[in-house]
Amino acid sequence: MPSAFERRVQPQRENFVRETEGDDASAHGEDVGVIVLARKARRVEVVAERGADTGDLVRGDLFALPRTAEHDAAIGGTRGHCAADREADRRIVDRRLAVGAVIVDGVAEPRERVFQMLLEGKAGVVGANRNSHSVRLYYVGLVMTPTVVISARGEDRVQSGHPWIYRADVASARASGGEIVEVRTPRGRVAGWALYSDRSQIALRMLSQREAPTGEAAIRARIASAIAFRESLKIDATAYRLVHGEADLLPSLIVDRYGDHLVVQALSQGMDRLLPFIVSTLNDLLHPKGILARNDPRARVLEGLEQRVEVLSGDVPESVTVTESGIEYDVDLRRGQKTGLFLDQRENRSAAAQYARGRLLDCFSYNGGFALVLGRLCRETIAFDVSEDAVVRVRQNAQRNGVAVDARVGNVFDELRGLERTRERFDTIVLDPPAFAKNKAAITNARAGYKEINLRALKLLNPGGTLVTCSCSYHINEAAFAELVYEASVDANTPVTVVEKRMQGRDHPVLLGVPETYYLKCFILRKLA
Ligand code: SAH
Repeated sequence: MPSAFERRVQPQRENFVRETEGDDASAHGEDVGVIVLARKARRVEVVAERGADTGDLVRGDLFALPRTAEHDAAIGGTRGHCAADREADRRIVDRRLAVGAVIVDGVAEPRERVFQMLLEGKAGVVGANRNSHSVRLYYVGLVMTPTVVISARGEDRVQSGHPWIYRADVASARASGGEIVEVRTPRGRVAGWALYSDRSQIALRMLSQREAPTGEAAIRARIASAIAFRESLKIDATAYRLVHGEADLLPSLIVDRYGDHLVVQALSQGMDRLLPFIVSTLNDLLHPKGILARNDPRARVLEGLEQRVEVLSGDVPESVTVTESGIEYDVDLRRGQKTGLFLDQRENRSAAAQYARGRLLDCFSYNGGFALVLGRLCRETIAFDVSEDAVVRVRQNAQRNGVAVDARVGNVFDELRGLERTRERFDTIVLDPPAFAKNKAAITNARAGYKEINLRALKLLNPGGTLVTCSCSYHINEAAFAELVYEASVDANTPVTVVEKRMQGRDHPVLLGVPETYYLKCFILRKLA
């Protein structure tokens, strides 16, 4: 939108400026020209012009320069770059050099930077018309870009490509929570653009490391690119992840497809604010029958956001049916874990199927992902989950697909011991527990838990049998997981080979340099003797 300057219109007065009638600044010998800066949109706008009574206007976030001010005092800091005899009436506003109320020239960005630093984001007065006879006050809404200055350590982190900048590395913020901000280094260089959170420990989620602002067009292009990539994968399922947050350069945004329906999660203030735009983009690109927000993860609490599940567009039925590797599942998008299914395990389920045979034990079965895909190839299948709802789903899904599964409610730790006592044996065992180490403090206990179930499973396995063992704890990395599985094999007194080393599916890619995006490990092991 063109500014008032650009339109060369007479300044308009806006109601936040109080006018003192009958005042004549020139009669008082005052000689003041004022530009008031306000953060609104990124443009220059004259919002008021009037005979001056500076005292009347000096309140709140406005302040006037003393009438004795020599030259254009607020631009004083830029004097090094300007001719010293510049007319006092000139001022630099939003990269434009203004004379009176007319913009006459562009101003190079470095000068604007000095200008911005001087003003520190608050509305203020930047000009004094020393020589003017027709004294007026010019109120100009200049929209200052929301800006966050980071520390040197934060700068290093940005340079390393990590998209998260922690609160401790924020030096100052002139922005409100949820805004897209310009990120600046301690020396004033633009480090990039980011989503800003005024609550979370992750204060900034970088959108780009270039100087160009990341606006809606860029976000739309990223969504389109993420979708095109998933289409190129030729996934053998109607449910998969379309947008995987940081790894699609859309930090804290998840979009999963369940047939004709989409489920979205906005896990930061910035993404939450962008949701209406994201929903309209998804409608535009994919024409889903409905879009559900599963905005109930705890991460939202850390952002000061409400936890809620709501339909954002179209209709979303209580249950939707999707297929994966030829198996049909009924999915409850509103109440199911994650966004309904554990989509990240899809490829591991079909990889594991290549080894499935004989007697199958699926531990931590949820609604039967591994049990059903592998169970088709096995003589007998037993599945355990501690959640009764999940077990009901396994039974329903098993019936629907004609796969025989003995789905039982039980705590895997107890059940494995029970099976060992009764000397049961299996040819294929799956261990797909929830994240035991949700934070660093839990690592020691988590290691013990993983080791315990792997040890028991190895003991229950027939020689030549396959163990599919998984960990989705980011805090236990691949090497640590391999180490504890090895320790379990030593304790079980059995040699074990690693047949496949896998991770989350290709629709959940890992962003290099961001270990947090490599969370799911899946080893397919063979017990040799
Ligand atoms: N394998 C599943 C996903 C498993 S998610 C799939 O491919 O879809 C982990 C599951 O473990 C959840 O369903 C949870 O209810 C269950 N669970 C958590 N702790 C458990 C325990 N101690 N014993 C049995 N099940 C447990």
